[in-house]
Amino acid sequence: MKNSDIIDRDLAVVWHPCTQMKDHESLPLVPIRRGEGVWLEDFDGKRYIDAISSWWVNLFGHANPRINAAVKDQLDTLEHVILAGFSHQPVVELSERLVKIAPPGLNHCFYADNGSAAVEVALKMSFHYWRNTGKTNKTKFITLSNSYHGETLGTLAIGDVALYKKTYEPLLMEAITVPAPDCYDREPGESCADVAHRMFVHMEQALERHAHETAAVIVEPLVQCAGTMRMYDPEYLRLLREACDRHGVHLIADEIAVGFGRTGTMFACEQAAISPDFMTTSKGLTAGYLPMAVVLTNETVYRAFYDEYENLTAFLHSHSYTGNPLACRTALATLDIFEEDDVLARNVELAEVMRQATEHLNEHPHVADVRQTGMILAVEMVKDRATREPFDWKERRGLRVYQHALSRGALLRPLGNVSYMMPPYVITPEQIYFLAEVMTEGIDKAVK
Ligand SMILES: *Cc1c(COP(=O)(O)O)cnc(C)c1O
Repeated sequence: MKNSDIIDRDLAVVWHPCTQMKDHESLPLVPIRRGEGVWLEDFDGKRYIDAISSWWVNLFGHANPRINAAVKDQLDTLEHVILAGFSHQPVVELSERLVKIAPPGLNHCFYADNGSAAVEVALKMSFHYWRNTGKTNKTKFITLSNSYHGETLGTLAIGDVALYKKTYEPLLMEAITVPAPDCYDREPGESCADVAHRMFVHMEQALERHAHETAAVIVEPLVQCAGTMRMYDPEYLRLLREACDRHGVHLIADEIAVGFGRTGTMFACEQAAISPDFMTTSKGLTAGYLPMAVVLTNETVYRAFYDEYENLTAFLHSHSYTGNPLACRTALATLDIFEEDDVLARNVELAEVMRQATEHLNEHPHVADVRQTGMILAVEMVKDRATREPFDWKERRGLRVYQHALSRGALLRPLGNVSYMMPPYVITPEQIYFLAEVMTEGIDKAVK
């Protein structure tokens, strides 16, 4: 079988995610036959380095032998069982281990089957907590500009990426949006921590004005990934934790993209030494194998739902595949690798290689910013470096970097005009240097 055989059949019946399908009249689909480590191989035998971890989910490479073995074993034991009224070993073990590694105080795990669903769970739980404790006015959520929390109607409502949100605006509940402490907007001489302090004034004002009617503030800790990898200082999270406590508002940390070692620590919140009231996780949770999400919360929240059935305070939310044993077992194998291989220590070294390999781009006439948090490195391509004037989005220059990278054997899917690396943790320094070279060539071509 060749690429072309699969492509024709695909385009007849498959509607792809986040895609203008007409693009594929000129931009060939890439049908993948197999994966191994950081490599993806198409049906014509061409190989690509998966530099974006297949949409930020893969941690330890494709077809990882250790994870494969765990999934195969679980498959012959128990593939799935209802989690209401029933339980199983993988979900108990996974919950125990997540509680152990999560920020202090998060000691109850609620399962969902994708990231958006997990965020919906956190929003509903927060609102419901206040309702159960007699505060029925708390119906609103505060969010940051440029944030992303998923694609369902509830999560689009509290997100702020216009490209995904604007069309559906008439269907969405209203959110209170506060300008983000984006370090890209720093003034000359200002540090990212300075930006965090300066911008926190807006959050403080919003809380003063709206705390009485607000259930929670939701943020993506440290990196707004879908919002073109914009980054901010941990200081903002410290200020936010203190302010949420003072104003009686929950803090939801959406660690779906940044959790599981991506930013340098197991969870991004650790860098601010804070515990949110809710932490949503998914993506890296199963190392890119199976769809699953977990919302962690604390004893206070849990207790507000714990009562006689007739009082109707229970959280009557479920998904068909809640706590799927195959996915739980995959997550356990993932956590084993973190422990056995000292992954976080190795990531510090790999992150330093990523920095060095892209250092020259700081001088590039069409690069306004090279930013990095741990294993995420993003390059902002602009029309004019001095004024930071962006390229017209209609020119789709980021797409040219993507196409060049494919021709060179790298999957570097951009976010608009931002190219980034967010590779599996099993990547080698040589492969990182190769990606940096391909990215540089791609930018050189794209700006012409
Ligand atoms: C990807 C993402 C989501 C949504 O997760 P899905 O599994 O794609 O629904 C939510 N929040 C953040 C921060 C994400 O990056």
